[in-house]
Amino acid sequence: MTRDTATIDAAAKGGPDARTVCAFDAAPLDRASELRSDPEWVAAQQAREDAVLLPLWRGDPLIVDGAAGWLSFAARSEFREADPVVFLGLDKQGRKPGRPRFAIDCGSRPSPETAPFTDFGAYTNLREAAGVLSPDDLAIVGQARWLLDWHARHGACARCGAETVMRDAGAKRECPSCGAEHFPRSDPVAIVLATNADACLLGRGPHFPPGFYSALAGYVEACETPEACAIRELKEEAGIDISNVRYQFSQPWPFPSSLMMGFFAEAAGRELTLDPREIADALWVPRATIRKRLNGEDIEIDGTSVNVPPRFTIARRLIERWAAD
Ligand SMILES: [Zn+2]
Repeated sequence: MTRDTATIDAAAKGGPDARTVCAFDAAPLDRASELRSDPEWVAAQQAREDAVLLPLWRGDPLIVDGAAGWLSFAARSEFREADPVVFLGLDKQGRKPGRPRFAIDCGSRPSPETAPFTDFGAYTNLREAAGVLSPDDLAIVGQARWLLDWHARHGACARCGAETVMRDAGAKRECPSCGAEHFPRSDPVAIVLATNADACLLGRGPHFPPGFYSALAGYVEACETPEACAIRELKEEAGIDISNVRYQFSQPWPFPSSLMMGFFAEAAGRELTLDPREIADALWVPRATIRKRLNGEDIEIDGTSVNVPPRFTIARRLIERWAAD
């Protein structure tokens, strides 16, 4: 059993590493949902000396020396008045429990180089930063990206089309015209590692990098359970029937707003009928071969070089858990 797998299994049992199964899942903040609707309380948090602010340019966080570029909240004055600020939460633990954390969107600048504090750090693609940030930083930065992106895309009321306004320090938007409330959305996705005897099914979408294979996934549709979605997607994309669909763990995925729910399932057979719009290629990979790849060896299936998803993805975590059995 690898160290990573031990961490996953400790997490599954609610052990001391329970916060770190997947990237973005650490939940280090108290979101203070009963307090954030009070503007006076929010203003008091912003006035605290220990309050901090993270700037993002169109979803890319400011990164300084491999860590999130937290600024003192006083740095708010270096940004434009109209740049939206959201409350993220209060630190649950650490050196200063209760420290308030905020994020600001400076995406109105034409380029990241023209945004404030570029002499201090660099606005960095979150997928690139994901490999270096701590689990806590990654979860907070993911939340900031998710929330600011949602606000940027939901300026108009979905019911009447009027301009909406931010409320509750960013926890919702309200329409002054028709009174509708709008809340940040999560788009549920079922991601499935299907197995048959001692092999698992990995596929690649038409736009995946060469050699990159992953577990199959699809969006949950209206009034559908994630388990039913798993069964439907595997049938639609690969032409296989699965059963014994077992939930494993989940991952918030802020690109822009997916909630990935990971499952194992058993396939009735190995014959595949691929939907070329969704799946360019799919392979049954023996467990021993997957273990070699996870140990850093190059692997081939029928002459095709096969790579697995990066560590910060739930697909990788599903593959690791299955390989460790
Ligand atoms: Zn409205």
